[in-house]
Amino acid sequence: MNTPRIIVAIDGFSSSGKSTMARRLAAAVGYRYIDSGAMYRAVALYGLDNGIVDINGNVDTPRLITALKDITIDFALQPSGRQHTMLNGKDVEEAIRQLRVSNVVSQVAAIPKVRHALVAKQQALGADRGIVMDGRDIGTTVFPDAELKIFVDASAQTRAQRRLSELLAAGSQVTFAEVLANVVHRDEIDRTRTESPLRRADDAISLDNSEMTIEQQDAWLIEQFNNAIARLQH
Ligand code: C5P
Repeated sequence: MNTPRIIVAIDGFSSSGKSTMARRLAAAVGYRYIDSGAMYRAVALYGLDNGIVDINGNVDTPRLITALKDITIDFALQPSGRQHTMLNGKDVEEAIRQLRVSNVVSQVAAIPKVRHALVAKQQALGADRGIVMDGRDIGTTVFPDAELKIFVDASAQTRAQRRLSELLAAGSQVTFAEVLANVVHRDEIDRTRTESPLRRADDAISLDNSEMTIEQQDAWLIEQFNNAIARLQH
């Protein structure tokens, strides 16, 4: 019997380490990895660069909705094995991670028509299964039928510290306080929006990785993956 190819949905709070887990699992099992947050970030960047979203997160919603048809988002595989987010053919991987985008992305992601457009694209990417996708609503809205759903959490302090290290390594000049404020603010918007708010799917497995190393996290996730495959084979 062929090994079934499944959908792995990894959801959770900002900077909880979802992307690292998801990317490493996909590489280990030979699946495609999709960072759904990068897609919302790309739309937010487009809005900022075209005067549709201001730096305080005020969005000209009708203009952004009209502009959606002019926005193409792809992922380009790099020789390193990493994928870079492409916005209308331009590599924006670095630009979308900056705090100026993080500061407005949740406001953009709360707009129902933006979500509908990106959810449709995410569902198309997973149509053949064999995919690991991380985000906020993957197990609840994008793939409610995913065979494996994980919900990741860690304390806000731990998450802000991780994000700060990434930003400093990338050369951004930011402080812990700024990053913590952003993480807490985004959590709040993501959790309280009307359209597919961040919440744990009833059938998701919870993970608090505050005290875990990346290797421990990888081992835990591979075990969950193998269990999910075994469940399908019996
Ligand atoms: O995962 P990341 O922090 O890069 O996501 C950026 C933002 O995109 C989140 O704070 C959230 O507002 C939004 N998002 C979402 N639904 C997803 C993925 C991300 O609303 N599936």
